[in-house]
Amino acid sequence: MGSIVAKFGGSSLADASQMEKVRNIVMANRDRRFIVPSAPGKRFDGDTKVTDLLYELKHTVEYGKDHKKVFAKICKRYIEIRDALGLSIKIEDYLSQVEQDILEGESSDYTASRGEYLNGLLLADYLGFEFIDAADVIKFDRRGKYDQSTTMDLLAHRLRDVDYAVIPGFYGSMPDGGIKTFSRGGSDITGAIVAAGAEADLYENWTDVDGFLMADPRIVPNPRKIDCLTYRELRELSYMGANVLHEDAIFPVFQAAIPINVRNTNHPEETGTM
Ligand code: ASP
Repeated sequence: MGSIVAKFGGSSLADASQMEKVRNIVMANRDRRFIVPSAPGKRFDGDTKVTDLLYELKHTVEYGKDHKKVFAKICKRYIEIRDALGLSIKIEDYLSQVEQDILEGESSDYTASRGEYLNGLLLADYLGFEFIDAADVIKFDRRGKYDQSTTMDLLAHRLRDVDYAVIPGFYGSMPDGGIKTFSRGGSDITGAIVAAGAEADLYENWTDVDGFLMADPRIVPNPRKIDCLTYRELRELSYMGANVLHEDAIFPVFQAAIPINVRNTNHPEETGTM
């Protein structure tokens, strides 16, 4: 059996109908073994990402304001997905735990990370895959710097006997157990790290565009897609603001010589950019 790590971005997991597309994609190739989800993203123009709602929640609690309204919005996103997919997971219990932890002073990183954590629980249940908490396998050092060697050891060990799993993106943990997130858009980094740790054959990054384009589509109408890029070109484009892949998601896979394929969840028939 081959092994593919597939990371799905927030728009790919924004609601139940998007989750259904994700399931179809995952099930279409049994080599897609390790799935890395983002938190639910925008469903429409003007919608708010769950991660942004979580930062707002932390802010309201910190400033002693009433947090119930924003917390209810977050709950609604997860409960709607759970119900529409007909899942039986008691997401309310996890949500109450998150609320309690934040009220008891859990950090901003912890709060933000719950977007991916809760979505990972739903997705694992939906796919019938094992759930692996990123806090157990993605590690940061005391200063908050990503700890590559510890992470690679933990991942190799943990994934050795696992056929299929969901590992939430965006966060890991510090030596004291506290949760630490990567910078915004950091689920891409988790995907790359998991691909390296699993010695995957391919890192698929599923998003809402057909791939990298030859020009900025906000400036040039209908630019052609780039079929194939080098790691160096990819890094340059990402660094310059191409906004498709997090620039720090390239090094872990480059180092392990794992190809990256950027694909569109809404057009899975497209081959994307390799
Ligand atoms: N949910 C996080 C963010 O909005 C991480 C990610 O989506 O990659 O930045």
